[in-house]
Amino acid sequence: MADISQSVCLNHPETPAVIRCATCGKPICEKCIVYMNGSAYCSTQCAVNAANSSGRVNDVLESKKRADSKSKGKFIVVLIILAALAAGGYWYYQNNQAKVQRAIKKTERKLRRAENSVKADAREAKKEIQKNLPGDSKYKKDRENLVK
Ligand SMILES: [Zn+2]
Ligand SMILES: [Zn+2]
Repeated sequence: MADISQSVCLNHPETPAVIRCATCGKPICEKCIVYMNGSAYCSTQCAVNAANSSGRVNDVLESKKRADSKSKGKFIVVLIILAALAAGGYWYYQNNQAKVQRAIKKTERKLRRAENSVKADAREAKKEIQKNLPGDSKYKKDRENLVK
């Protein structure tokens, strides 16, 4: 943009411009300046347009902010739901895992007890056979092999 000191007022071609309109950029002289909200304009029309458009910009920014915080809120709600689901799923998994582990241990204990009692029975039976049968008879060995 050309230096303002080189320009003349568009309304008064004989008067040098001192500033450009904040809205349309027209060079204007001291007499033509319309001040609004600390800015200089060539006309009330430009001042009003500026106020309206900044108002619109603010509106747009506001509604965007509202939409942002709304979607942020939604995002947080979704996060909370996901966290709750994950926590619930983890709890369920842990809980079930503990149950399954307990069941497995219980079964293992039962199996071990059964195994021990079978072994004990076998030992008992073997002892009985050894007690009741004489010498190294083939019959004794056969019976022993059966319960080994
Ligand atoms: Zn203007
Ligand atoms: Zn002027």
